Amino acid sequence: MANRPRVPLRPAVAALPAYVPGARSGPGAAAFKLSSNENPYPPLPSVVAAIADAAADVNRYPDMYAAELVEATAAALGVSAEEIVVGNGSVAVLAHVLQAVVEPGDEVVYPWRSFEAYPIVAAVSGAVSVQVPLLDGAAAGRLDLPRMAAAITDRTRVVLVCTPNNPTGPAVHRDELDTFLAAVPSDVLVVLDEAYVEFVRDPHAPAGLDVYAKQPNVVLLRTFSKAYGLAGLRVGYAVARPRLAAGIRAVSTPFGVSHVAQRAAVASLAARDELLARVEHLVADRTRLVEGLRDQGWELPESHANFVWFDLGERTLQRAEEARAAGAIVRPFAGEGLRVSVGEPEATDLFLRVSATWR
Ligand SMILES: *Cc1c(COP(=O)(O)O)cnc(C)c1O
Repeated sequence: MANRPRVPLRPAVAALPAYVPGARSGPGAAAFKLSSNENPYPPLPSVVAAIADAAADVNRYPDMYAAELVEATAAALGVSAEEIVVGNGSVAVLAHVLQAVVEPGDEVVYPWRSFEAYPIVAAVSGAVSVQVPLLDGAAAGRLDLPRMAAAITDRTRVVLVCTPNNPTGPAVHRDELDTFLAAVPSDVLVVLDEAYVEFVRDPHAPAGLDVYAKQPNVVLLRTFSKAYGLAGLRVGYAVARPRLAAGIRAVSTPFGVSHVAQRAAVASLAARDELLARVEHLVADRTRLVEGLRDQGWELPESHANFVWFDLGERTLQRAEEARAAGAIVRPFAGEGLRVSVGEPEATDLFLRVSATWR
């Protein structure tokens, strides 16, 4: 038995970086969890009622194509149901997008530092990751779209554009995105990851749906996890031309979105105004946080998401530990910086007291 060969893992899988979830608070510790860009507000009563109602039917498989949710989402966006593909969180939808278009050895271009799921889903799809550094200096934390365009080769199948960029916060601008898209070959897919689109207040930011309407090779990725506060139920979707959407659907996990999640998402769309009013509160608190930090002397990238980024270099882990000791759990990227989510108003107060001690 001793020397029999073992089942090999695919080299790409054995080499995968771990997805690091935002730390959770320990037992008994009172702490604000500002580490996962979650919505701090609990679900609305109408959404909780829809979830409770759906619980009675969990002996049945969900509607495989989530018809009601797809219809409601399409209606909310002004596209056809054929153009919407839902999945078990937009991370799963992104994995399905790549599976639908990437052959082993093809290249996927994306900014870095950006969303930590990108290297994982790219590697699992068999793709080679081509990471393009963010800009520096006055434009620190912004995507370098000219350099991303220049990184496209004959092997490139997909470019991921994270806007606003997680974890740094800036949104791309309309003019730079137009120039970029004009340089991308029409057979290369551009994924606009708009996980935080509801939080964007940048007048120069493009409307993703307008970009999508003009560009057949653009796919939008959106989620119910952040603004809609359903992170725990895992629902996201892609907006894509019908032919691409059908391809993404074909590789999707069958019954990938639970009945409970479908019902909750439909109820959330019905309560959209109420939920977007909460987003307004979070945006106001983001402004309060950013202005408080600016008053303390910090120069940070301009955030259009529900988090802010501190480039703290080698002091990152120490600062994260200090924040935790003070009652705020933040997300450190060792050697690079800290990402701090906008949480409850009390969390913003507390964090501002902590950041003041770092000046
Ligand atoms: C949070 C996030 C998502 C959403 O992930 P879900 O799987 O839908 O919860 C997607 N993209 C980025 C950049 C994110 O930060």
